[in-house]
Amino acid sequence: MESTGHLIAASAVARSLNIIGDRWSLLILRDIFLGRHRFEELHKHSGTPRGTLTKRLQSLVLNGVLYRNPYQTAPTRYEYRLTDKGLDLYPVALAVWRWEIKWGGYDNSEALPLVLRHKGCGNKLIPSYRCGECGQELSSRDISYRPGPAAAEAEPALTLGTHRRAKLNPGDRRGTDTSLFHITDAIGDRRTALVLSGAFWGLRRYDDFHRELNIATNVLADRLKLLVEVGLFTRKSYQDSPPRYEYKATEKAHDLYPLIVALHQWGSKWLEDKGAVLTLVHKCSQKPIRVDTVCNHCHERLHFGDIQYALDDDN
Ligand SMILES: [Zn+2]
Ligand SMILES: [Zn+2]
Repeated sequence: MESTGHLIAASAVARSLNIIGDRWSLLILRDIFLGRHRFEELHKHSGTPRGTLTKRLQSLVLNGVLYRNPYQTAPTRYEYRLTDKGLDLYPVALAVWRWEIKWGGYDNSEALPLVLRHKGCGNKLIPSYRCGECGQELSSRDISYRPGPAAAEAEPALTLGTHRRAKLNPGDRRGTDTSLFHITDAIGDRRTALVLSGAFWGLRRYDDFHRELNIATNVLADRLKLLVEVGLFTRKSYQDSPPRYEYKATEKAHDLYPLIVALHQWGSKWLEDKGAVLTLVHKCSQKPIRVDTVCNHCHERLHFGDIQYALDDDN
């Protein structure tokens, strides 16, 4: 494929991952969307250690995703609420839910609601991600990408040198249980998420990933291996000496596609002041894609507050 000169590493998805692409931030946001707003509640439900929780909340406030709202005076206590920019992550949160319910192996003991009900039509719902132009359900096969207006000035959004996991050590993945792989493992690690999105944008071979993603070789090799182990990629040999492999996204990975396009849409809107580095185009049109998150029954667009949660499937 033609080189896009690190555009993926500088794209809206990479920028979004810089803000919410770590395990704790995702869990904190999940809980805030579920109506948990106070420090102690967030600590208890998300399991985030106190020190980490303080830092992540500060960073989400600094990045304009959350704001602090006083709910008590003397002493003043704050709760954390979503700004408009934060509320706009709702399609991302719904995509996380959708994938976890299907692939995450959840049961009633987990903190995730098993049923979502659309207040508009009263039906149990699976969020559906559709093209805003033609209304068709989105699939990675129908979407292509091209350099956007800001491509010439693209700079990688992930600054690898300063990231605490930039250097790979043997214990790097110790927290990842590959038999029960959760979405926080897939996008809670920015590099894994970037490799995954690379596959959606058409990367296949090790050299392509390496050239396009700006990830150190040992880290890249490790993430590719992980993605194969957890069933998101398959690996096929295309050359014997030296051995070379091609990687392809499985169905389980393709089910993560709504999440990637939701991250793209959010990042394009809120994080690219100079315009898009990478533009996604649906097969129906030449315009940049607009993604609609809708109810799979009535096809109405979903907004925060339109959905009721239930922890079990009884009613
Ligand atoms: Zn379309
Ligand atoms: Zn509906």
